Amino acid sequence: RGIASCIDPSTGLTEEQKEFQKVAFDFAAKEMAPHMAEWDEKEIFPVETMRKAAQLGFGGIYVKPDVGGSGLSRLDTSIIFEALSTGCTSTTAYMSIHNMCVWMIDTFGSEEQRHKFCPSLCSMEKFASYCLTEPGSGSDAASLVTSAERKGDTYILNGSKAFISGGGDTDVYVVMCRTGGPGPKGISCLVLEKGTPGLSFGKKEKKVGWNSQPTRAVIFEDCAVPVDNRLGAEGQGFNIAMKGLNGGRINIASCSLGAAHACVLLAQQHLTVRKQFGEPLANNQYLQFRLAEMATRLVAARLLVRHAARALQEGREDAAVLCSMAKLFATDECFGV
Ligand SMILES: Cc1cc2nc3c(=O)[nH]c(=O)nc-3n(C[C@H](O)[C@H](O)[C@H](O)COP(=O)(O)OP(=O)(O)OC[C@H]3O[C@@H](n4cnc5c(N)ncnc54)[C@H](O)[C@@H]3O)c2cc1C
Repeated sequence: RGIASCIDPSTGLTEEQKEFQKVAFDFAAKEMAPHMAEWDEKEIFPVETMRKAAQLGFGGIYVKPDVGGSGLSRLDTSIIFEALSTGCTSTTAYMSIHNMCVWMIDTFGSEEQRHKFCPSLCSMEKFASYCLTEPGSGSDAASLVTSAERKGDTYILNGSKAFISGGGDTDVYVVMCRTGGPGPKGISCLVLEKGTPGLSFGKKEKKVGWNSQPTRAVIFEDCAVPVDNRLGAEGQGFNIAMKGLNGGRINIASCSLGAAHACVLLAQQHLTVRKQFGEPLANNQYLQFRLAEMATRLVAARLLVRHAARALQEGREDAAVLCSMAKLFATDECFGV
């Protein structure tokens, strides 16, 4: 009982936050956890389940309400993704990328773009993918070479993206591409829809887990994209991509928290039920220490993630660094758990 109260994720939250946290926990327990293993084994992208989650407002959590979003804060978002992740971390991680893409369109798009794309993404009638990584540019994202050459009112897009979450199964692609010279300032951000001639996908990547979300290469061969589909100004794309990732880092870190939280509870349960040497494992002091360590790592990670989420919400100067610290710490610590 001691551990359960120490790791209680509702500690310190407002009544409103506790309410939507409970909604997310219930959804995770009823709609996700019972299917998680099957989704992974059969590589099912659970579109209908995610649409049900969107009915609860989880398709555009930190997107403005006038285009169908829930208008919640970064901390609220973290609380929700942590709770959903206890039901299926892989599916929640994809949902977090989707939310990040919708936020990018909501924040950097024109009024016309916001109203064109966001409502059907918030309801998850349509799904989005974030396309930054390329075969030759991963950590060094600013060296990307996918090119968008302007011809009148369209860009002609050529190149390919690697490891794109949802790729091939999603409908809207937020693509970072080069419209200018080398380096980050030559990058712009275009929104492409599935069905655009010249847009195709690689084979589904084989992964050791997270199989409820497909990962594929996204290929552009003379794809004509209207200039009207550019988010922000030419050359602003890298900045948009990085701003998206600040929230993305908090969200992925939150998914790790949810997975770790579920693990601590399962371990605690197992220690009380399983008997060896004539008594429950929980009577073994070494295992009590191990459980205490797991709980410590989880709570420390959660504190940092929520601290970073608040910093991002407040627009603090150190927010980007704190978001990176939160992702680094939470993903590693929770993996350890
Ligand atoms: C399951 C999955 C889903 C993904 N989904 C998406 C997605 O939806 N959209 C998207 O755009 N991308 C996605 N990615 C790509 C991901 O963001 C990249 O894998 C990541 O940016 C790292 O790039 P890389 O794999 O090319 O590794 P590399 O950049 O080649 O790095 C290889 C190793 O070298 C290290 N390294 C690199 N540079 C340095 C340095 N200067 N100093 C020290 N160490 C260094 C790295 O830390 C890493 O350990 C996904 C990846 C995976 C595995």
